[in-house]
Amino acid sequence: LKRDSKKKGEDITVVYELREKLGEGSFSEVRVAQHRCTQRLVAVKCIRKRALKGKESMLENEITVLRKIHHDNIVSLEETFETPTKLYLVMTLVTGGELLDRILERGVYTERDASRVIHQVLEAVRYLHQLGIVHRDLKPENLLYETPKEDSKIVISDFGLSKMEDQGMLSTACGTPAYVAPELLQQKTYGKEVDLWAVGVIAFILLCGYPPFYDENDTQLYKQIIKAEYEFDSPYWDEISDSAKDFIVHLLQKDPKKRYNCEEALQHPWISGGAALEKNIH
Ligand code: ADP
Ligand code: MG
Repeated sequence: LKRDSKKKGEDITVVYELREKLGEGSFSEVRVAQHRCTQRLVAVKCIRKRALKGKESMLENEITVLRKIHHDNIVSLEETFETPTKLYLVMTLVTGGELLDRILERGVYTERDASRVIHQVLEAVRYLHQLGIVHRDLKPENLLYETPKEDSKIVISDFGLSKMEDQGMLSTACGTPAYVAPELLQQKTYGKEVDLWAVGVIAFILLCGYPPFYDENDTQLYKQIIKAEYEFDSPYWDEISDSAKDFIVHLLQKDPKKRYNCEEALQHPWISGGAALEKNIH
């Protein structure tokens, strides 16, 4: 199997049989595909270039970066195909389903389970940050289980390309901005810190089942986020450890300079010190 090669001009449908749709985004769709010779299944993200008008050179840069990403908790880019109108990213197929679906199906869920998930996400984010990549679109839908097994790893499925979506999309096509950091909403310059904010939002959701910031009205939602206005409401948070809350407080910090970075988050006792409780919180 020849990896990391771009086959200019080669037709993907000669090599792979494209099958059912797994998911759909604003400028792309993801489908299962089967290699015609080896029968191996993969996931193919088909990107409509027209949706990225004028940003094709950026796309090239992004692909160059994506090829360099090799991490246990990030889905691998295996090869790419291109036509004048479409770009196909062939990725390793993961089969364990989305994070939240799996949690809902489980009878018992503990802080320790949530801590293990967040630990893996932080390891992946630290790796990306070391490469100078800001993910910018971390959310539960982009966190997948590698296999259906109970002890399966978590992998980040959607990476890098998020930066290419234009600014206006934050408020429109990409739906709820529930995971977006205050500095992004205020159109300030932003950096790696936005990913740690998103990790904080995800950790909050894993622990109580609802998001820290919510309003049907986007303007009100933005106001909440910009002020970092959230609460550990009773009774939902009564049984959650102080350590878990302390971890979240350091991530949902409105000033990006005061927010934990990956190293600090990984060193927190709730992640690395066994402070996460083993009690069911479902
Ligand atoms: P988008 O940019 O459209 O959000 P994603 O990469 O997040 O694209 O993929 C959309 C959906 O497709 C995911 O939520 C997931 O359900 C499915 N998916 C993406 N990548 C894979 C993969 N490697 N294996 C299995 N399913 C995947
Ligand atoms: Mg996605």
